[in-house]
Amino acid sequence: MSRVTVFGSINMDLTVTTKVMPEQGETVLGEQFATYPGGKGANQAVAAARIGTVVRMIGVVGDDVFGKDLLNHLSSEGVDTGGIYQLSGMATGTATIIVNDHDNRIIVAPGANHGLTPEMVYKQESLIEQCDVLLVQLEIPIETIGAVAVLAEKHEILLIVNPAPYQKLPETFLERASFVTPNETEARMLTADDPWVESKLITTKGKEGVSILVKGEQITVQGYPVEPVDTTGAGDTFNGALAAKLSAGTELNESVAFANAAAALSVMKPGAQSGMPTTKQVLTFLQ
Ligand code: ATP
Repeated sequence: MSRVTVFGSINMDLTVTTKVMPEQGETVLGEQFATYPGGKGANQAVAAARIGTVVRMIGVVGDDVFGKDLLNHLSSEGVDTGGIYQLSGMATGTATIIVNDHDNRIIVAPGANHGLTPEMVYKQESLIEQCDVLLVQLEIPIETIGAVAVLAEKHEILLIVNPAPYQKLPETFLERASFVTPNETEARMLTADDPWVESKLITTKGKEGVSILVKGEQITVQGYPVEPVDTTGAGDTFNGALAAKLSAGTELNESVAFANAAAALSVMKPGAQSGMPTTKQVLTFLQ
């Protein structure tokens, strides 16, 4: 059985819809409030698990109600949560999202996600080394991403770095990545900082699809003309599905084509995780 380990953030998204955005010092009555499991790490772990690979997640939540809920949620999605630390004295990461017709405003409080240390990663080396693919984004401390890169190199495991939200990474981390998967905006910043990364770049381009630029060869995978309902989490679906396919030994172009279809399906439903498809749903869509 192929195995993926996802290192990353685990958040509760707190969403409130309102007709009126409050001005400074103002209180307004909103409409609907809802909580949704989120965080790029957790989203990508769920996306990979839905495709049917064995997924283990390494991250940190707080010893609070959101932490407990999110651990239960990940388990119910079939993600192995044995590598997730639940630390007291830390608040689980949250994203507070105010949704208005014209304007969305988001405040992310990383909380416990910033408590994921390199030591926590090294401690799990014996399980990590049994994996086929490691997948990481940039919502955890940069030195912890470095530890993931070190273990990927040491055990010769395929490493996917999703550079989101973008920040410049030390060159040695990127050198150890097998593939780097920015969206178009991140790709612009990344290739300005590290032009050499173009030899391992898989860029998602929203409805345009995906561009693969690996070892000098450029391939464009066309997007699907679907009716988008909510594109939140499209990139996470792509990365999770890509990791799942590559872990099963599927070759790169085929894995990207599959992940492109999975991500297109995901935008047809609201919320980051609710639209993430199973392998069966992707295959039906592709028929
Ligand atoms: P997000 O931040 O919303 O999760 P992103 O900016 O990381 O997304 P995008 O490049 O917008 O990533 O989208 C990722 C993938 O999702 C695309 O490569 C494509 O496969 C699919 N996708 C996104 N938007 C659409 C769309 N409108 N129609 C079809 N496919 C889409």
